[in-house]
Amino acid sequence: MNVILLGAPGAGKGTQAQLLVKDFHLQHISTGDLFRFEVSQETELGQQAKRYMDQGELVPDQIVVDMIQGHLPEERGTLLYGFPRTIEQAKALQKVLTAKHKQIDFVLSVDVPKEELVKRLLSRGRSDDNLETIENRLDVYQNQTKPLIEFYQEQGVLTSVDGCQEIAAVSEDIKAVLGASL
Ligand code: AMP
Repeated sequence: MNVILLGAPGAGKGTQAQLLVKDFHLQHISTGDLFRFEVSQETELGQQAKRYMDQGELVPDQIVVDMIQGHLPEERGTLLYGFPRTIEQAKALQKVLTAKHKQIDFVLSVDVPKEELVKRLLSRGRSDDNLETIENRLDVYQNQTKPLIEFYQEQGVLTSVDGCQEIAAVSEDIKAVLGASL
Protein backbone atom coordinates (compact mmCIF):
# COMPACT_ATOMS: atom_id res chain seq x y z
CA MET A 1 0.00 0.00 0.00
CA ASN A 2 1.40 3.39 -1.01
CA VAL A 3 -0.12 6.47 0.54
CA ILE A 4 0.37 10.22 0.14
CA LEU A 5 -0.56 12.72 2.82
CA LEU A 6 -1.34 15.97 1.05
CA GLY A 7 -1.87 19.26 2.81
CA ALA A 8 -0.58 22.78 3.33
CA PRO A 9 2.37 23.50 5.61
CA GLY A 10 1.00 23.23 9.15
CA ALA A 11 -1.88 20.91 8.23
CA GLY A 12 -0.47 18.20 10.48
CA LYS A 13 1.00 15.82 7.90
CA GLY A 14 4.05 15.00 10.02
CA THR A 15 2.00 14.42 13.15
CA GLN A 16 -0.46 12.18 11.34
CA ALA A 17 2.33 10.29 9.58
CA GLN A 18 3.89 9.36 12.92
CA LEU A 19 0.58 8.06 14.23
CA LEU A 20 -0.11 6.08 11.07
CA VAL A 21 3.15 4.19 10.84
CA LYS A 22 2.39 2.67 14.24
CA ASP A 23 -0.69 0.93 12.86
CA PHE A 24 0.26 0.26 9.28
CA HIS A 25 3.35 -1.45 8.01
CA LEU A 26 4.62 1.55 6.10
CA GLN A 27 7.91 3.30 5.75
CA HIS A 28 7.42 7.04 5.98
CA ILE A 29 9.34 9.52 3.90
CA SER A 30 9.28 13.30 4.19
CA THR A 31 11.31 15.27 1.66
CA GLY A 32 11.38 18.19 4.12
CA ASP A 33 13.01 15.93 6.74
CA LEU A 34 15.44 14.55 4.16
CA PHE A 35 16.44 18.08 3.16
CA ARG A 36 16.81 19.18 6.80
CA PHE A 37 19.10 16.19 7.36
CA GLU A 38 21.21 17.14 4.34
CA VAL A 39 21.41 20.73 5.62
CA SER A 40 22.51 19.53 9.07
CA GLN A 41 25.25 17.41 7.46
CA GLU A 42 26.30 20.40 5.36
CA THR A 43 26.28 18.30 2.18
CA GLU A 44 26.27 19.87 -1.26
CA LEU A 45 22.64 18.85 -1.68
CA GLY A 46 21.86 20.46 1.67
CA GLN A 47 23.52 23.70 0.66
CA GLN A 48 21.62 23.72 -2.61
CA ALA A 49 18.28 23.08 -0.88
CA LYS A 50 18.79 25.55 1.96
CA ARG A 51 18.67 28.57 -0.33
CA TYR A 52 15.13 27.65 -1.34
CA MET A 53 13.96 26.48 2.08
CA ASP A 54 15.02 29.73 3.74
CA GLN A 55 12.85 31.66 1.28
CA GLY A 56 9.89 29.31 1.55
CA GLU A 57 10.36 28.40 -2.10
CA LEU A 58 10.22 24.89 -3.50
CA VAL A 59 13.48 23.14 -4.22
CA PRO A 60 13.59 22.53 -8.01
CA ASP A 61 11.75 19.38 -9.11
CA GLN A 62 14.79 17.62 -10.55
CA ILE A 63 16.72 17.86 -7.28
CA VAL A 64 13.73 16.56 -5.30
CA VAL A 65 13.01 13.70 -7.69
CA ASP A 66 16.68 12.62 -7.81
CA MET A 67 16.78 12.59 -4.02
CA ILE A 68 13.55 10.66 -3.47
CA GLN A 69 14.46 7.86 -5.89
CA GLY A 70 17.07 6.47 -3.55
CA HIS A 71 14.62 6.44 -0.65
CA LEU A 72 11.63 4.62 -2.07
CA PRO A 73 11.61 1.17 -0.47
CA GLU A 74 11.52 -1.95 -2.61
CA GLU A 75 9.40 -4.14 -0.38
CA ARG A 76 7.35 -2.20 2.11
CA GLY A 77 4.55 0.20 1.39
CA THR A 78 5.36 3.86 1.67
CA LEU A 79 3.74 6.82 3.33
CA LEU A 80 4.87 9.98 1.58
CA TYR A 81 4.31 13.45 2.95
CA GLY A 82 5.63 16.76 1.73
CA PHE A 83 6.13 15.00 -1.60
CA PRO A 84 4.92 15.29 -4.30
CA ARG A 85 4.42 19.05 -4.18
CA THR A 86 4.07 19.81 -7.91
CA ILE A 87 2.37 18.11 -10.83
CA GLU A 88 5.84 17.46 -12.30
CA GLN A 89 6.87 15.63 -9.13
CA ALA A 90 3.64 13.63 -9.13
CA LYS A 91 4.23 12.55 -12.71
CA ALA A 92 7.83 11.61 -11.95
CA LEU A 93 6.68 9.59 -8.95
CA GLN A 94 4.13 7.79 -11.07
CA LYS A 95 6.84 6.86 -13.57
CA VAL A 96 9.12 5.48 -10.86
CA LEU A 97 6.31 3.47 -9.28
CA THR A 98 5.02 2.12 -12.58
CA ALA A 99 8.52 0.88 -13.42
CA LYS A 100 8.41 -1.09 -10.16
CA HIS A 101 4.85 -2.33 -10.88
CA LYS A 102 3.54 -0.24 -8.03
CA GLN A 103 0.97 2.51 -7.69
CA ILE A 104 -0.42 5.16 -5.37
CA ASP A 105 -3.36 3.59 -3.55
CA PHE A 106 -4.56 6.48 -1.41
CA VAL A 107 -4.10 10.22 -1.26
CA LEU A 108 -5.42 11.86 1.89
CA SER A 109 -5.88 15.60 1.67
CA VAL A 110 -5.73 17.09 5.16
CA ASP A 111 -7.72 20.31 4.90
CA VAL A 112 -7.14 23.28 7.22
CA PRO A 113 -8.10 26.95 6.53
CA LYS A 114 -5.34 29.49 6.02
CA GLU A 115 -5.83 31.48 9.27
CA GLU A 116 -5.45 28.32 11.32
CA LEU A 117 -2.34 27.30 9.34
CA VAL A 118 -0.63 30.63 10.02
CA LYS A 119 -1.45 30.33 13.73
CA ARG A 120 -0.03 26.81 13.90
CA LEU A 121 3.13 27.61 11.92
CA LEU A 122 3.91 30.68 14.02
CA SER A 123 3.72 28.58 17.18
CA ARG A 124 5.94 25.82 15.74
CA GLY A 125 9.13 27.87 15.75
CA ARG A 126 11.09 26.12 13.00
CA SER A 127 13.75 28.32 11.35
CA ASP A 128 11.61 28.75 8.22
CA ASP A 129 8.50 29.50 10.30
CA ASN A 130 8.68 33.32 10.32
CA LEU A 131 5.72 35.33 9.07
CA GLU A 132 7.22 36.34 5.74
CA THR A 133 8.35 32.84 4.82
CA ILE A 134 5.07 31.36 6.02
CA GLU A 135 3.04 33.63 3.72
CA ASN A 136 5.25 32.61 0.82
CA ARG A 137 4.99 28.89 1.62
CA LEU A 138 1.20 29.13 1.78
CA ASP A 139 1.13 30.94 -1.59
CA VAL A 140 3.43 28.31 -3.05
CA TYR A 141 1.10 25.62 -1.70
CA GLN A 142 -1.91 27.34 -3.23
CA ASN A 143 -0.31 27.78 -6.64
CA GLN A 144 1.87 24.72 -7.06
CA THR A 145 0.69 21.96 -4.73
CA LYS A 146 -3.08 22.39 -4.56
CA PRO A 147 -3.53 21.38 -8.23
CA LEU A 148 -2.50 17.89 -7.06
CA ILE A 149 -5.91 17.54 -5.40
CA GLU A 150 -7.59 17.57 -8.78
CA PHE A 151 -4.82 15.45 -10.30
CA TYR A 152 -5.42 12.65 -7.79
CA GLN A 153 -9.19 13.17 -7.75
CA GLU A 154 -9.21 12.34 -11.44
CA GLN A 155 -7.34 9.15 -10.65
CA GLY A 156 -10.00 8.21 -8.12
CA VAL A 157 -7.60 7.88 -5.18
CA LEU A 158 -8.28 11.10 -3.26
CA THR A 159 -10.12 11.45 0.04
CA SER A 160 -10.36 14.71 1.99
CA VAL A 161 -10.24 14.83 5.77
CA ASP A 162 -11.05 17.71 8.08
CA GLY A 163 -7.69 18.67 9.56
CA CYS A 164 -9.20 21.08 12.09
CA GLN A 165 -10.37 18.31 14.37
CA GLU A 166 -8.42 16.99 17.36
CA ILE A 167 -5.28 15.11 16.33
CA ALA A 168 -6.78 11.75 17.33
CA ALA A 169 -9.98 12.39 15.36
CA VAL A 170 -8.05 13.27 12.19
CA SER A 171 -6.05 10.09 12.64
CA GLU A 172 -9.22 8.02 13.07
CA ASP A 173 -10.64 9.46 9.85
CA ILE A 174 -7.46 8.60 7.95
CA LYS A 175 -7.29 5.10 9.42
CA ALA A 176 -10.91 4.50 8.50
CA VAL A 177 -10.04 5.18 4.85
CA LEU A 178 -6.89 3.06 4.84
CA GLY A 179 -8.30 0.36 7.09
CA ALA A 180 -11.19 -0.30 4.73
CA SER A 181 -8.67 -1.63 2.23
CA LEU A 182 -6.91 -4.09 4.52
P1 AMP B 1 8.37 20.71 4.82
O1 AMP B 1 9.11 20.14 5.97
O2 AMP B 1 7.64 19.67 4.04
O3 AMP B 1 7.49 21.88 5.19
O4 AMP B 1 9.48 21.28 3.81
C1 AMP B 1 10.34 22.36 4.17
C2 AMP B 1 10.94 22.99 2.92
O5 AMP B 1 11.71 22.00 2.20
C3 AMP B 1 9.92 23.49 1.90
O6 AMP B 1 9.48 24.81 2.20
C4 AMP B 1 10.73 23.42 0.61
O7 AMP B 1 11.65 24.50 0.51
C5 AMP B 1 11.53 22.15 0.80
N1 AMP B 1 10.80 20.97 0.28
C6 AMP B 1 10.35 19.89 1.01
N2 AMP B 1 9.75 19.00 0.23
C7 AMP B 1 9.77 19.50 -1.03
C8 AMP B 1 9.29 19.07 -2.30
N3 AMP B 1 8.62 17.91 -2.43
N4 AMP B 1 9.50 19.86 -3.37
C9 AMP B 1 10.17 21.03 -3.28
N5 AMP B 1 10.64 21.51 -2.13
C10 AMP B 1 10.46 20.76 -0.99
